[in-house]
Amino acid sequence: MIYVHVPFCKSRCYYCDFFSSVRPDLVQAYVDALCAEAGERWDELERARANTIYIGGGTPSQLTGEQLRQIFAALPEACEGAEVTVEVNPDDVTPDFVSMLRHTPVNRISMGVQSLDDDVLRIVNRRHRAADAIRAVSLLREAEYTNLSLDLMYGLPGQTMEKWRHDVDGILSLDIPHLSAYSLQWEDGTVLARMRDRGEVQEADEETALEMYRYLVECTRKCGMEHYEISNFCKPGMFSRHNSGYWREEPYVGLGPGAHSYDGCRVRRSNNADLQTYCEGCVLYEEEHLTDGELYDEMVMKRLRTSVGICIDEVPAGRVDYMLCMAEKHIQSGRMVLEDGYLRLGSEGIFVSNDIISDLML
Ligand code: SF4
Repeated sequence: MIYVHVPFCKSRCYYCDFFSSVRPDLVQAYVDALCAEAGERWDELERARANTIYIGGGTPSQLTGEQLRQIFAALPEACEGAEVTVEVNPDDVTPDFVSMLRHTPVNRISMGVQSLDDDVLRIVNRRHRAADAIRAVSLLREAEYTNLSLDLMYGLPGQTMEKWRHDVDGILSLDIPHLSAYSLQWEDGTVLARMRDRGEVQEADEETALEMYRYLVECTRKCGMEHYEISNFCKPGMFSRHNSGYWREEPYVGLGPGAHSYDGCRVRRSNNADLQTYCEGCVLYEEEHLTDGELYDEMVMKRLRTSVGICIDEVPAGRVDYMLCMAEKHIQSGRMVLEDGYLRLGSEGIFVSNDIISDLML
């Protein structure tokens, strides 16, 4: 698995605390530095197996066709049948952009729609409007990009239950194979948090956010989508292979400033997030060696989010009793299920997943 971080956005969404820059003057220097990093880590990249490649950000659709091609040329060739995803912003999806994509190995598009309500989009400073998202889906389909994943957000300021129903119904009417939906996180230091502190916007209360999530879970189920991870839904077989690899703790190589890599055993590497230093060709990184306890916690946090759950045989022998003991009251209440050697959240457990997961962690 290979991940490429593209740390540029045209403008900043008010809720975002991801690492990205709005300095277009650095983009080409970044692309050159990224290709140099790929060259230096070539052995690692080859070992990583390019069965999935994910170009994320930031906003990768801010790159020119030439820059995207330059990046793909610096990576090992994708394996046959690989999933190659690029994240896009709806208003970047123009006929030129789509025809440029055809000259790359990209075969899956992940698009940040977030809402189909223009007022809500405006409040959080998304630069596209609902019509851009609908038009982008049509353009991509006309070009035979059918493996589409759309992102929604709930609990946004100004987003009433009625607006959320409109969002979910509208997105599902597009009959897309994959949907991700995330609850808004109010991160300190973001523009939105400052707006809240000044009383300009309000946080959605927990009950409303839960009601929104319940509505989404119910509607996706009626549409025949599998709820395969707490925030992810797909038509049968159309799960994200890249993200599923993260949840199974498979090894991956992350390129770009702030990107993470994992050896699949216990070593995690984080590239320095300083864009200027990175563009000057200096890829500083930190290595972290996870302890046995941290590995167990990672397994609980990631696998319990998925509908498959935790395979008991894969839990280190010394932790099995502890885990099952902590799970017991949730199994008794029906919020967890222990079946065929797997422990997973039950249909009501997904609504209180954070509590259950923290109970099972050390
Ligand atoms: S497009 Fe994505 S990465 Fe960029 S500011 Fe908005 S949420 Fe953050």
